[in-house]
Amino acid sequence: MTSAKNPTDTVENVIIVGSGPAGLTAAVYSSRANLKPLMIEGEEAGGQLMITSDVENYPGFSHGVTGPELMAEMRKQAERFGTRFITRNVTKVDFSSRPMKVWVGDTLYLGKTVIIATGASAQYLGLESERAFYNKGVSACATCDGAFFKNVEVAVVGGGDTAMEEANFLTRFASKVYIIHRRDSFRASKIMADRALKNPKIQVIWDTAVVEVIGDKFVNALKLKNLKTDAVTTMPIGGLFIAIGHKPNTELFKGQLQMADNGYLITEAKSSRTNVPGVFACGDVQDHTYRQAITAAGSGCMAAIDAERWLEAQGE
Ligand code: NDP
Repeated sequence: MTSAKNPTDTVENVIIVGSGPAGLTAAVYSSRANLKPLMIEGEEAGGQLMITSDVENYPGFSHGVTGPELMAEMRKQAERFGTRFITRNVTKVDFSSRPMKVWVGDTLYLGKTVIIATGASAQYLGLESERAFYNKGVSACATCDGAFFKNVEVAVVGGGDTAMEEANFLTRFASKVYIIHRRDSFRASKIMADRALKNPKIQVIWDTAVVEVIGDKFVNALKLKNLKTDAVTTMPIGGLFIAIGHKPNTELFKGQLQMADNGYLITEAKSSRTNVPGVFACGDVQDHTYRQAITAAGSGCMAAIDAERWLEAQGE
C-alpha cells in the first residue's frame, strides 16, 4: 500500500465512509452545519436499500417508496447542502494519530473526524456448491433477481423477516416458493411469518438444511438434510435465495476500533462515539438489533451532531 498524500494537504472536517441511510443522513446534517463533509460513498453506493423494492415503513412516504428512489432523494439532499462525493471504496484507514487517515487506493484523505457508515452485507451458507452457482441460480437478493425466476419453483433459506419478505416477494414470479428453515419455528415477527404461512404459493420445509446445491450451467436441485431424522433427499428447484442474515462491513477497522465478537462496531451508549476520539459510527455497522433504514438514518443524525460537537470542543 502506497502512502501517497492528497496533493492539496486539505484536512477535511468530516469524512463519511459509506452511503446508505446512515451515511447520507450524517451528510445532510453535517453539510447543513456547514462542515462541508467529504463522503466516500463506495463503488456500490446507496447500501442495502439499493436492492430493496418497496419500502413501506419509512415515515413520510404514505404510499411507499422504492429503496433506490429513497436513496437518490437522500443523496440529492446531501449534495444540495454541499456534500462532496467520491464514488470509490476506502482501502485502508489509520486512526492511530490525528488527523485521521483514510485511503482510497493510493490517494490519502485527512480528516479531523470520520463517520463510519459502512453497513452490513448478506451472509451465505458457505457451501462450495453454493459458491459455484452464484448468479447462476443462487442469489442473496430476491428483489434484484426475483424477476428472472418466472414460473419456476424456487427456495428461500432462513427463518427471519428477510426470508419471509423475500418468499412473499418471490411469489409474484415463481410458481412455488419453498422456505427451508433449520428449526421448527420462525424467528420472524408474527405479522411477517403469518403473511408467508398464509400465502398459498409458499410451502415451509422445517428442520432442514441445504447440504448441496446441484446443477449444470444453472441450479436445478438441492440436496436437503432433515436435521431431526438425518434423512437426505434431493429436491428439484430452479433457484435458491439465501436470507440468513448479515455481516457488518468492518474488515477495514480491525485492530483500530473496538468491535463485538460478531464484528459489529461498539459505540458508547446513547451516542455514536467509538473508542477512538473523533471517530463515530452509525447505521448497521454498529447496530445488530434494529437494522432498519429509519434507525440507521436516526443514528446518522446522531453521528453528525456528535462530530460537530466534538469539533467544537476541540476549538475548531
Ligand atoms: P435474522 O438474523 O433475523 O434471521 C436469520 C435467519 O437465518 C434465522 O432464522 C436463522 O436461523 C437463519 N440462519 C442463520 N444462519 C443460518 C445458516 N448458516 N443456515 C441456515 N439458516 C441460517 O436476519 P434477517 O435478515 O431475517 O433480519 C435481520 C433484521 O432485519 C431483523 O431485525 C429483522 O426484523 C429486520 N428486518 C425487518 C424487515 C421489515 O420489518 N420489513 C424486513 C427484513 C428484515 P435461526 O432462527 O435458527 O437462528
